[in-house]
Amino acid sequence: MMAGTGALRHGGTGKGLPRPRAPVPLCPPSSNRVQFIDLPIRSILNSPQQTGMGFWSLNPYVGCEFGCTYCYARFAHRYVVERGEAGTTGTWADDAFERQVFVKREAPDVLALTLKPSRLGRAAIVIGTATDPYQPAERRFLLTRRILERLAQFHGLNVSLITKSPLVARDLDVLARLAERGRITVYCSLISVDVPLIRRVEARSPMPQVRLRALQKLTAGGVRAGVMLAPVLPGITDGVPQLLSLMRAAKAAGAAFVHADPLRLYPAVRATFLPVVARHFPALLARYERAFDERGRVTQTYARALERRVERLRRRTGFGGHERENGPASEPLQWTLPL
Ligand code: SF4
Repeated sequence: MMAGTGALRHGGTGKGLPRPRAPVPLCPPSSNRVQFIDLPIRSILNSPQQTGMGFWSLNPYVGCEFGCTYCYARFAHRYVVERGEAGTTGTWADDAFERQVFVKREAPDVLALTLKPSRLGRAAIVIGTATDPYQPAERRFLLTRRILERLAQFHGLNVSLITKSPLVARDLDVLARLAERGRITVYCSLISVDVPLIRRVEARSPMPQVRLRALQKLTAGGVRAGVMLAPVLPGITDGVPQLLSLMRAAKAAGAAFVHADPLRLYPAVRATFLPVVARHFPALLARYERAFDERGRVTQTYARALERRVERLRRRTGFGGHERENGPASEPLQWTLPL
């Protein structure tokens, strides 16, 4: 998912909004020992100015049971814990992100009270920029569904949603209504169709085939959906055979697009992801340690080479693309890509 820390700062008050209150464990821990804690809020939509992103964003949950080792939302979760925003003690444990999920229980009602479509301008609303809106908690709390129902009361909204979960297909009826009244795009997040690889880097995410089946249900139901291939992991998932398999599977599932972005190795991500590289891909560790700049970005050379590779494969698999028409017909294999 995508987010700046600002995405989780609460702002705006407004008459009639619920007031913050003491923390409430919402129910006994799940069978996976996940604890759900009420996170009081006064606003739910983050403006483009707050986050520095060109769209409005919304995240019903903080923390995520799927536990991807490359996930950058741990930083925001730690921020909530250490600020005591949900009555937490301020001590953040390593597995807290996966085991302690904060639930913005009032999100649908706060959205109903605060949403003014005229304020949105032409910018989209993106759900799931920081954490997965269809993570297992959604089965219990139905926040994402109720938020979509609120949004579907309006005409002309441009809504996007990012998820790794097949649970999104549960809400096909609401998504189809949104499509009729405005624009909805679902980004099914999938970095590889290689199951053993997925299990090395994503602790508890749904299996690729299950996600692809959900994608197929959405597209068959008239909802615009595609694959968010992010993060692309240098040396691990950026090879032509890997990308090609994923794009072919996406095409077969009716994906309208494939969007790819390279890994951002933020400091908080380094702490969880580099040990995984050391354990499962030791030959790559030295390159990972030196290849990203202080803001966690890959080199421009790598980013451009990856972009060209993805564009080429998009065309090859029937997605069309935005390849520079005058660019080189083919790039040398990278990573070889020059990190
Ligand atoms: S599904 Fe998204 S939010 Fe959840 S752990 Fe993975 S990357 Fe993070």
